[in-house]
Amino acid sequence: MPPRSITRAASSAVEDYLEQILELINTKGYARVVDIAERLSISQASVTNMVQKLDTEGLLKYEKYRGLVLTTAGEELARNITHRHNLLSDFLQLLGLDSQTIHHDVEGMEHHISPETVRAIECLTEHLKSRPALLAAIRTGPPRKLVRKKAAPKV
Ligand code: MN
Repeated sequence: MPPRSITRAASSAVEDYLEQILELINTKGYARVVDIAERLSISQASVTNMVQKLDTEGLLKYEKYRGLVLTTAGEELARNITHRHNLLSDFLQLLGLDSQTIHHDVEGMEHHISPETVRAIECLTEHLKSRPALLAAIRTGPPRKLVRKKAAPKV
């Protein structure tokens, strides 16, 4: 078994914040508490608390009237969670799942998946993209022989 990463994994909540902050910075050029609160459906007061905590932990710099910027460490975590989110979305999309299911599942899976599994899914995704027949079969459902039949009632 490969050694586990020694860096402590960020909590799901921290990852969700960093992910949204990076997304806001990339799309709007800046991230404000009000926008983060809206995206995460959390009160502005709670967002302010969390943002101050993330500042203390060295993941971002928060200035009350000027918004916030990610530090190098914060940006690295943000890029990492964003990568996991996009990879898992692409993968489930490839399998033909509907967007609601994809969104629901990815928001949970992205926080728990290990780097080893990320690499395996990256590899699998690349292979699947060049196998349209296999993809079509996957989208159609399991082969008949794998469908469990109800046992016939005994007479
Ligand atoms: Mn996400």
